Amino acid sequence: MTAIVVHGGAGAGEQLSDGCQRAAEAASARLRAGDDGLAAAIAAVLVLEDDERFNAGTGAALGLDGETIEMDAAVMDSRGTLGAVAILRSVKNPILVARDVARTPHCLLAGEGALRFARAMGHAPYDVISDKARREHAEMLAQLSSEEPAMAGVDNDAFARYWNYACSPAFRGRRGRDTVGAVVRDADGHFAVAGSTGGSAPSLLGRVGDTPLIGSGFYAGPHGAVAVTGIGEYIIRHTLASKVYHWIAAGMDLDEALRRGIALVPPDADTGLIAVSKTQSGWCANAATPIAQA
Ligand code: ASP
Repeated sequence: MTAIVVHGGAGAGEQLSDGCQRAAEAASARLRAGDDGLAAAIAAVLVLEDDERFNAGTGAALGLDGETIEMDAAVMDSRGTLGAVAILRSVKNPILVARDVARTPHCLLAGEGALRFARAMGHAPYDVISDKARREHAEMLAQLSSEEPAMAGVDNDAFARYWNYACSPAFRGRRGRDTVGAVVRDADGHFAVAGSTGGSAPSLLGRVGDTPLIGSGFYAGPHGAVAVTGIGEYIIRHTLASKVYHWIAAGMDLDEALRRGIALVPPDADTGLIAVSKTQSGWCANAATPIAQA
């Protein structure tokens, strides 16, 4: 039996579930056409990267300078495919660049090298800043100027203190949502995961979250596939995807493994996990997170 689970970002709100549903249907169509789990997971993420309501691809969050967009993405499957990009600018679909990286001798390309690689592989310049990203950037500056922490557990002042953008900080002192991901079990029993994000705002220039880091934001192996969404800094500390995968591989009930995973991060840091195993599929989140299953 095939299985697909798609998320649209921890804390993004269930009103975005229709987007996840369309993404799950795109993945399902690929499986029905005989494509493998990786192609299906990528198809799901492509739908969400092109839906500007989500913080990935066209809808990616703006950096604190109000100009820069840096995106991370990754793919992995249980047949040895592994490719990721970090701090990638100016492409429409980072997930397709991550897939191309998997064909190189490397696993992860970042920054300028990732951009040059993308161009060499034929990914055209794309510099759209969505209206939603502009609105959320303005809201984030307002929040950074307030007493309310823009990132759970972090003083707003920290972003001004360590500021590394070319312009000056436009605040005195919100986080990105709607990152996207998909996990798939295909008809041959192989597992795949794909994820893409505009990052967790606020962040300093050059910040890399969990999404392109194997074992942190994603993992796939012969026992299943796992994708994580939330504030990368908390996820990376626990290598969360790898931990949950290994619990499932050791025989733990999938729902229990997801619950234990969520319990590792602070409750005020919105976090979500999706997973498929040989016999189960599911999700767990500590915040309203759009999810679709097929
Ligand atoms: N995990 C992503 C990051 O930290 C953001 C998210 O999932 O909302 O970059």
